[in-house]
Amino acid sequence: KELVFSGMQPTGNLHLGNYLGAMIRWIELQKTMECIYCVVDMHAITVWQDPADLKRQIREVTAAYLAAGLDPKKSIIFNQSQVQQHAELAWVFNCVARIGWMNRMTQFKEKAGKDRENASLGLYAYPSLMAADILAYRATHVPVGEDQKQHVELTRDIAQKFNNDYAASIAANGYGDAFFPLTEPMIQGPATRVMSLRDGSKKMSKSDPSDYSRINLTDDADTIAQKVRKAKTDPEPLPSEVDGLKGRPEAENLVSIYAALTGTTAEDVLREHGGSQFSGFKAALVDVAVTKLAPIAGEMRRLMADPGHIDAILVDGSDRARVIAAQTMDAVRDIVGFVRSR
Ligand code: ATP
Ligand code: MG
Repeated sequence: KELVFSGMQPTGNLHLGNYLGAMIRWIELQKTMECIYCVVDMHAITVWQDPADLKRQIREVTAAYLAAGLDPKKSIIFNQSQVQQHAELAWVFNCVARIGWMNRMTQFKEKAGKDRENASLGLYAYPSLMAADILAYRATHVPVGEDQKQHVELTRDIAQKFNNDYAASIAANGYGDAFFPLTEPMIQGPATRVMSLRDGSKKMSKSDPSDYSRINLTDDADTIAQKVRKAKTDPEPLPSEVDGLKGRPEAENLVSIYAALTGTTAEDVLREHGGSQFSGFKAALVDVAVTKLAPIAGEMRRLMADPGHIDAILVDGSDRARVIAAQTMDAVRDIVGFVRSR
């Protein structure tokens, strides 16, 4: 059975990259597929989060999901910490995954920085918990940005090794010849890797200390205009062909953002704006960004004024998620060989 799973960390400022790289797809997918969208609060604490801030951020990410168009009647929306099977399955996967696999993860290297000895053990094991998030529902499709490709591939490796290591037990327990699916990453659209507005070689990120590096979903029109105006570019006008964007990461980034915001392609954008100076193109970009983001920001503010309503959606979503995850985890206990007390 096909099932979509994805999530965002409540680590602070949701930005245009999160929206264009992931959320915009999620909204499309819920129209035709069964979808589960998670606020991954246990992932968030792999780096320090002030508890009061974390609570607010969990509600804010939920508000963003709803404001962007996720429908809690269609999709399951919940926060990870409320379904304990994620942590439980992650432990089993910690014993399936190999240290060498984790050592190859580029996100850990980037986030841990130079002082690797001082990074949390959770940050290192992050991909194992992410595999558990996905496989607790035996999800087949995971819509994410380009930066998460490696983690989804690791999820497939974990599923495959689990299926192999426990093949005899899986069959003996009546689950045929494979228990976990090999999940497909869905990395689609013109903006699967939105870059920082300050540095065309770094991805736009919630945790970038410079607020000018990103457009937040809650930025007002003036702030968006200021950030786009200050965005790094080169001195040449825009090319008229996509080939002309090679070696011009900042120009490529702005064109991709424009295409994603307007539901077109880079070719379309260059057909219209090729030959323009950045000053003119940036003004057009501000217009489309404000048109798309202002209603989302407004709706987020409205929703945040009623945290009780947001919490009720999370309670309902976690109740529904737990039913599925509990079935998976019961099966995993049998497969692994844990004696069940109930
Ligand atoms: P953090 O810096 O805390 O890791 P983040 O901005 O990377 O925050 P995540 O919560 O880790 O956000 O990722 C949520 C989703 O957004 C994932 O699907 C991820 O691939 C996607 N995403 C994150 N940054 C970008 C980006 N710059 N471009 C496209 N997609 C992105
Ligand atoms: Mg991230």
